[in-house]
Amino acid sequence: MKTIGLIGGMSWESTVTYYQVINQIVAKSLGGLHSAKSILYSVDFQEIESCQANNQWDKSATILIDAAKRLALAGADFIVICTNTMHKVADQIQKAITIPIIHIADVTAKHLLNQNIKSVALLGTKYTMEQDFYKSKLIDKGLNVIIPDEQDRIVINNIIYDELCRGVIKSSSKQAYLTIIEKLVKQGAEGVILGCTEIGLLITQQDCSIPFFDTAFLHAQEAAMLSIS
Ligand code: GLU
Repeated sequence: MKTIGLIGGMSWESTVTYYQVINQIVAKSLGGLHSAKSILYSVDFQEIESCQANNQWDKSATILIDAAKRLALAGADFIVICTNTMHKVADQIQKAITIPIIHIADVTAKHLLNQNIKSVALLGTKYTMEQDFYKSKLIDKGLNVIIPDEQDRIVINNIIYDELCRGVIKSSSKQAYLTIIEKLVKQGAEGVILGCTEIGLLITQQDCSIPFFDTAFLHAQEAAMLSIS
């Protein structure tokens, strides 16, 4: 079995999902008392969020490079960065280490293409929705990416940082997300990327008939399968 190196804590609420999904899949695949070999480096999210808010991406990359190097030294065979947003600095991290990073957008794109989705809505932090680092990975694979309008992006982003990353789950926020998704479906979305690793804590596939692509689940599943392949 390969050892998974997790860079987590962004936020820790969603790192719990990764740990759970990875172990559930390994246990189901191998049976018995099997569980995943993994090493978690969990950062202080306040430090990372301050870097984001102050446009200090190189500083955040330095923190995550340090984490990745420690995971490699401790025996990780590959790295999983447990957040969509911080994939903004994934290339910088990859250049600093010799073990591979499993990119969350590549994994998501693979599932979208497998389901023959051509136009997809992207929900995530304002960085993920508005900047190119994430969308370009999808567009390069021929996908049409639809993002919410500015007002709705603010709503989605604020719910992530003010509620979900703090473990606060509100039914009004769930309704707000579902209303925004309805609008995106009217604009042609055939599926929705839950492109922030906490969104699956608020809405799940049962809430909606359009296919959801929950990045935390898909990324964790990929890590689990890779570890036992
Ligand atoms: N976990 C979130 C994501 O997947 C947001 C927190 C962060 O900014 O890293 O983007």
